[in-house]
Amino acid sequence: MAGLYIHVPFCRKKCPYCNFFSVVSQRLRRNFVETLINEASQWAPTWSSLEFETLYLGGGTPSLLTEDEVRPLLENLRKFFKFSAQTEFTLEVNPDDISKERLLLWKSLGVNRLSVGLQSLDEEALRFLERLHSPLEALEKLRLARRQGFSNISVDLIYGIPGLSRTAWLQTLEDVFEFRPQHISAYALTLEDNTIYGIRVNRNLVSAPPDSLAVAHFHLLRHKARSHGYRFYEVSNLCLPGYHSRHNSAYWKGTPYLGLGPSAHSFDGNKRWWNPASIGEWEKMVDKKSIPEAESLTPTMRFNEYLITRLRTQKGIHIPDFKQHFEHEAFVQFFEKVNNLPGGHLTITPEHIRIPVRNFLVSDGIIRRFIIED
Ligand code: SF4
Repeated sequence: MAGLYIHVPFCRKKCPYCNFFSVVSQRLRRNFVETLINEASQWAPTWSSLEFETLYLGGGTPSLLTEDEVRPLLENLRKFFKFSAQTEFTLEVNPDDISKERLLLWKSLGVNRLSVGLQSLDEEALRFLERLHSPLEALEKLRLARRQGFSNISVDLIYGIPGLSRTAWLQTLEDVFEFRPQHISAYALTLEDNTIYGIRVNRNLVSAPPDSLAVAHFHLLRHKARSHGYRFYEVSNLCLPGYHSRHNSAYWKGTPYLGLGPSAHSFDGNKRWWNPASIGEWEKMVDKKSIPEAESLTPTMRFNEYLITRLRTQKGIHIPDFKQHFEHEAFVQFFEKVNNLPGGHLTITPEHIRIPVRNFLVSDGIIRRFIIED
């Protein structure tokens, strides 16, 4: 079992909070699909024996790709790799790219899950995020997708936005839950130095909101989600029963994945490698058939990665599985740290250690206490 990720690094405009690798120049799209197909063909011999259970077109904005770009890409991927009959095929889309024609195209190509970059349904918040859609337009597009038969829709939401009142956030949540997407990815707005938003804050052009805003919004989301039948299954992800993202869940389980396209990361179970976050450099690498930068996981890295990925999920660490993976000594040391934590940080049962959902927003700080150094 494996996952396939394709990074499409083109956007209509750069959102100020975004730190994903993407460019607005469409000029660089000329050779993009051709290079992707070339890259896929180079990996085919080593990955063709594995069955891909998930295919994820992310970015960037893959919904920008025209039929002439996306159709040959998929035809070639299906030629090079083996996909299971129930492959989860997710396409990231922006609401402004959704139209009846595009939905029909995506359906005909086998897309069975849409991940929609909604971010908010509040006019002011969308203006702050500089998104290209209005709340009404976004809702209409979601309903159109539903009418065209997309029965597995995920929406992205951002909370903790400066000036977003409790009432406005509540209204966004009510509207989202009324639409009833199968899945929601919800992120607190974070300040990254390399984003336009981060630069504006560092230059005192805008002020960063207090942490208490994101905390209040997170707890509101948590309560509302539960009352509407959604369950947090990872720190930033919640869903209706049975609709967790199989692609992302594979990352958290340590399943191998192959990433194609600039900045894409891959992992084969022992080592990971990553493509350059530059279209020019990536094209050069593929043309020359060079090997991307890579690292083999040391026992310490494996241990840390195991903790980080498992503790991010609602299932947490399964103690018998943990004991099977690591030496007794590592387990004893981990348990000592667990016992030294003040009460309430973790939920401990005979079989599991997990971070309770109410603490998901501070999960990074909790997990950091368990990280070991070489
Ligand atoms: S948030 Fe999405 S649409 Fe905006 S710049 Fe980032 S990848 Fe592009």
